[in-house]
Amino acid sequence: MLRALFCGIISIFILFVFSSFHNSYGPSAIKLRTIVIDPGHSPCDPGTHGLTSAEKDVTLDISLKLGEAIKAHFPNTKVVYTRTTDACVNNATNLHDDLHGRAQIANQAKGDLFISIHCNATPHPPGGYYEKRVIGHKKKLVYVGKGAKKHKKWINAPIYESYWVKNTRVGTETYIWKASKQENKNDAINEREESGEDVTDSAAVAEEAFDLSSPEGRMRAVLYEKKYFDNSALFATMVEESFAAAGRQSYGVKQRDKGIQVLQATGMPSVLIETGFLTNKEEEEYLNSDKGQNEVVQNIIDALERYKNQVEGGTSTSGSAQPDTTGK
Ligand SMILES: [Zn+2]
Repeated sequence: MLRALFCGIISIFILFVFSSFHNSYGPSAIKLRTIVIDPGHSPCDPGTHGLTSAEKDVTLDISLKLGEAIKAHFPNTKVVYTRTTDACVNNATNLHDDLHGRAQIANQAKGDLFISIHCNATPHPPGGYYEKRVIGHKKKLVYVGKGAKKHKKWINAPIYESYWVKNTRVGTETYIWKASKQENKNDAINEREESGEDVTDSAAVAEEAFDLSSPEGRMRAVLYEKKYFDNSALFATMVEESFAAAGRQSYGVKQRDKGIQVLQATGMPSVLIETGFLTNKEEEEYLNSDKGQNEVVQNIIDALERYKNQVEGGTSTSGSAQPDTTGK
């Protein structure tokens, strides 16, 4: 009896602590005055490539279309691009300056939302590749041993066959900066890093480009956790829900702290959208087509509409506002 009472008090206490912690966060009310669109990669780091296209070009096409669509749908919202041509950001001559330029442009524009557009890749060659498999065994006479002990022996040798493996992986995922203190609260957000894209050489440069251990870096991290994480997670969730509703394979919202430092360096809610896999032949064609690009843009606009309604204090929208990865 006493024990039950004690447990009860403890659980009320835990509930209280949890709810007061919970209340101190949550999406903040903001006005979407300026949206910064960041076409991922550039000649400074072309990104991944498919059979016929490079990521830097596809991201630029989609980004320019997204900017036009935002201007059409939300005439009071200003659109700022980090680049509008096939050139390094701010005509940088190296990746470090290119990445810094993106954060700088976003911060100078005092953006209210930063949307970085990317394309994904599997670690395998675009289109497909050959692999070998064992299809049986045959008796084979071999020599074993050395010198005087050398003798013949029958072994069971495998018979190999090469076969074509199509690069089938398709789908979208949206990344947000991994805020350390939010791990428990937002454990619904997937933290796996399944795709290898961006976690390559350029990730190391990106890491150096933004010194996260500097006083400014630590300040940004605290600010991000307090002010921008929840809005980033909210918008990212809506983007992925929008892709899923349109019939795309959605891998949900993921947190990452490697290769996407630019998200943390922008003082605003920020997301990185992987719009699909260039390593899949059909998805590459889709992402290069007007139809595909317009659909991706429309999916993001639908999410923006919901996000804008919610954060600007308009009518509450339907659907979940919590990060969710059930679309996996
Ligand atoms: Zn990329």
